[in-house]
Amino acid sequence: MKNAEWLSQLSSLTGLPYYQQHRIFGDKSGALVGITDGYIVAVGLGKGDGGHAAVKALLRYAKAQDSNHVKQALDAAKGKFKLATDETTARLAQTYSFGKPDATDVAERMRELLAALKTAASPINGKCEECGKAEPQILLLNDVPTHYCSGCQVQLTQKLDADAIAYENLETNLPLGLLYGAAAALLGSIAWGGVAYLLHRISLWGAIFIGLLVGKAVVKGTGKVTWTARIMIGVLTAASAAFGDCIFYALILMNENQLAFMPALKAVLLNFWKLESDSDGGLLSVVFGLIGAGVVMYITRKPAFKAGFVALGTPAITLSNAATK
Ligand SMILES: [Zn+2]
Repeated sequence: MKNAEWLSQLSSLTGLPYYQQHRIFGDKSGALVGITDGYIVAVGLGKGDGGHAAVKALLRYAKAQDSNHVKQALDAAKGKFKLATDETTARLAQTYSFGKPDATDVAERMRELLAALKTAASPINGKCEECGKAEPQILLLNDVPTHYCSGCQVQLTQKLDADAIAYENLETNLPLGLLYGAAAALLGSIAWGGVAYLLHRISLWGAIFIGLLVGKAVVKGTGKVTWTARIMIGVLTAASAAFGDCIFYALILMNENQLAFMPALKAVLLNFWKLESDSDGGLLSVVFGLIGAGVVMYITRKPAFKAGFVALGTPAITLSNAATK
């Protein structure tokens, strides 16, 4: 069955309006978004764990005292859905391989989840998420359905604009970033060399760990993420992995030739390129280091300061709706 057809069917089974234009779960077929007994409910198709096709759903409630309590209540009713909860939202996903689950089953599952939710969390009952004022309309805030009054929308937009300007105006302290980053890189080298010596192997996770350590230290020092800071993170991480290898070789040399550590390290440094290109893992560890740095540069990208408010608009007229009119 085509996605749009399946969603239309689910829409008439659940009574939730179908909006083809809102891709809040990722799929271009859109999503069902509506209110059931004062709770916001959204269901659609998208990607679950490992990129598998999945049925996804959101249940939103008034701010809960204890999100674990909500989770426990929903756990009993979730069926094959995977569940995560926070203060205001339960996120559900059920992956499938051979055809979508039956819409009737999904509708029934939603009914059971809502019945369980009622025992653990209060409904929102059309109140603004920020100030609690009556706001019956649902709108999407960065693709999350919510009640948000016009006054609070203005306030949030102004606050985020101010945050963005404040961020742009932050002083960047590159020397301090370099100092922190170099210290972290040295620590990373010692850990890398020591672990490689003990375990006789290097690992990609180790490189990502060093990248994270160096990245955190550089950003702490500079105070904000700039291209110079990103390049610094990349170079320091690769250098840390390379110097970690030197420590590893020096430890081996020390052990084999009864040398002290410093002379052994000096001998290694003088023959660095030869050792790295001769050994199996040498260049690999620098490559791992760079992958680690790449991951960190991605993670430390500039924070987003944007509130996108989108009205739900008109739902699609589904075949079953049209038939009853
Ligand atoms: Zn408000």
